Parts: sequence; C-alpha cells; structure tokens
Amino acid sequence: MTAQDLKSLTPKFTGQQFASDNYSGICPEALQAMIDANSGSCAAYGQDIWTERAANGFRKLFETDGEMFFVFNGTSANSLALASMCQSYHGVICTSFAHIATDECGAPEFFSNGSKLLVAQTENGKLTPDDVRSIACSRTDIHFPKPRVVTITQPTETGEVYTIDEIKAISDVCKELGLKLHMDGARFANACAALGCEPADITWKVGVDVLCFGGTKNGMAVGEAVIFFDHKLAEDFDYRCKQAGQLASKMRFLAAPWVGMLESGAWLSNARHANECAKRLEAGIKGLKDVKPMFSVDANALFLHAPDAVFTALRAKGWHFYTFIGGGARFMFAWDSDTKRVDELVADIREAAGA
Ligand SMILES: *Cc1c(COP(=O)(O)O)cnc(C)c1O
Repeated sequence: MTAQDLKSLTPKFTGQQFASDNYSGICPEALQAMIDANSGSCAAYGQDIWTERAANGFRKLFETDGEMFFVFNGTSANSLALASMCQSYHGVICTSFAHIATDECGAPEFFSNGSKLLVAQTENGKLTPDDVRSIACSRTDIHFPKPRVVTITQPTETGEVYTIDEIKAISDVCKELGLKLHMDGARFANACAALGCEPADITWKVGVDVLCFGGTKNGMAVGEAVIFFDHKLAEDFDYRCKQAGQLASKMRFLAAPWVGMLESGAWLSNARHANECAKRLEAGIKGLKDVKPMFSVDANALFLHAPDAVFTALRAKGWHFYTFIGGGARFMFAWDSDTKRVDELVADIREAAGA
C-alpha cells in the first residue's frame, strides 16, 4: 500500500465525528487518576493499592463482594468470561447482532476451545425468553452442543436497553434450564443512566452471573472489568487472563482510571451526557419524512434509516458513519460529544432530507 493509498483511507476529520463512541479521548477523571498512579514504584501484576481500590470501588457500587478482574479490552473480557463457564462441547446462546458473534473474530470459540455460539436470528439486538427456550430446547441429543450460557448485551448493539423485568424474565428461563447468564456491558454505564437504576438492579439481583463492564467507551483509554457475582465461577480466572496475555504487569494503570471513574461518579455522568446527545439527535430529526431511527433510542446510539441519497449528501458534507447494522447510519455519542456538533448534524440531516 502506498502512502497515497493510506492517506485516502484515513478519515479526514473536519470536526468531531460520531461514527463510534471509541473515537473519544480519555476523560479528565480517568486521566487524572492515571497521573496520580504514576508516582513512585508500586507492586506489579495487580498486587498494588490501585487495583485493590478499584476492586473495592466496584464492590461498593454493586453492593456485593464479587470477584473483579481488569483486562485490556472487551473481546478478551467477553471471551474469557464465557470460556470460564464453558467446556469445549458447550454452547453459548446469543442474538445474531451480538458482538461476540459478529465482531470478535471467533475469540469466544477460540478461548473456550470450541464452544459453539448458538445464534438466535433476531430483529434487533434483544434476546427474548422465547429465543432462549427455543434454542436451548431445540435438541437434547448428544450430537448437538450442550447449551450452557446465555449472553445478552446491555445496552444492545442496536442501542436498546433491557428493562429490569426483561432481564429477570431471561434469567428465570436460564435458572429453569440450568443455564448461566453473562452480560456484555461494553456500554453498561449507559444502561444504568438510561434506566436510572442501581447497577445491582440489572445484574446480580436479577440473576446475572458475570458482567463485562466497559471502561473504554465510557471514557477511559483502555480497560474493561470482568465482574463475577458467583465466586465459584471465578476460580482460576487469573490463570486464564495470564495465559491469554491479559494480565497487565503494570496493573495499576489499568486499575487507576477505574478509581477515577468510580470515585468521581464520571462513569455515570459521562454515560448520561452521551445518552442525552442521542436524544438530542432524535428530537432534532423528529417528523422528517423517510428519515427516522431504526431502533428505539434508549442509550447513546441512534441508527438512522434514510434514503441512500441522504447518506450520500451527509458524506459529502464530511460526516463519517458506519452502515454495517441493517444498512442504517450509526451515530454514537460519548462523554465528550459536543452538543453544538450534534446540532450541526441535525441541521445537515434536515437539509439532506429536503426539510
Ligand atoms: C466495543 C464493544 C465490545 C468490546 O470491543 P473491543 O474492541 O474488543 O474492546 C464488546 N461488546 C460490544 C457490544 C461492543 O460494542
């Protein structure tokens, strides 16, 4: 590839873009905690005070004494968490939109030595109790992988939030059928902000066994927390992390940003702001003909359904967005989204739509 080719592939940012929430930088609270952790020497591999403080911060936030692990990214958090509950002959039930099925390059199967993803064909990112039941009960013979875990994404890949009751209904079926429940919470904070509930209300109190709590999209540079509410499931998870290359030697720098996020409350205020920006975009395009959200705008994402001409016009105006989910344009907001820029997007969509 020539330098010229590379240049043409590199997005030319002419202003803030909302193609993804991981386009954002590090929020001040996370960065300050990193700086604070950067004084003197400190024990390695998680035996430091920052790691202890972060783990205790999560225990307080979740009102429980679960087991916490800090890894670099969401793919490893999900894959290792699922692998910890599965033997190679097990199956993991998920939706056809699930990040683990569409965006993790086979890592969940790889780290579990072959557990199969049992994918429910869904119209959006939400799994229903019926989906779980129909897949889990579709086969009971020895020739099919044995269903073992259900995974849901909160908020979903389509920007929708499961209510407390919806999670409870899924976990009731899991209990009945002897399945574990995993939650991919890459944007978990946005779900808490949307529901106005305590983190415990949508996790262990309604039967979630393991949560992957995303820090990156919430405003950190890097890092996700794997939280086991059932101690037994966490057995040997530290070895699993190490073997997978996910044990940070200078762990304090993965842990300290969490301390900054949790102790300041930025984890929630960041998510609230991002959600409000999605609502602002939704309100701004209300009433347009042929241009509307594809899914309920519950959290920090809006998937825009519009004629191709509108997308072409938006691109010509310099907007970047992905259309890999159902052909709609995805706009995602983060802690640093500028509301003036959201208003510019609204104005450009309205103009492109001929309003
Ligand atoms: C971003 C994301 C992840 C994590 O992805 P990484 O790039 O591996 O950090 C996991 N699940 C969902 C739903 C995501 O959007």
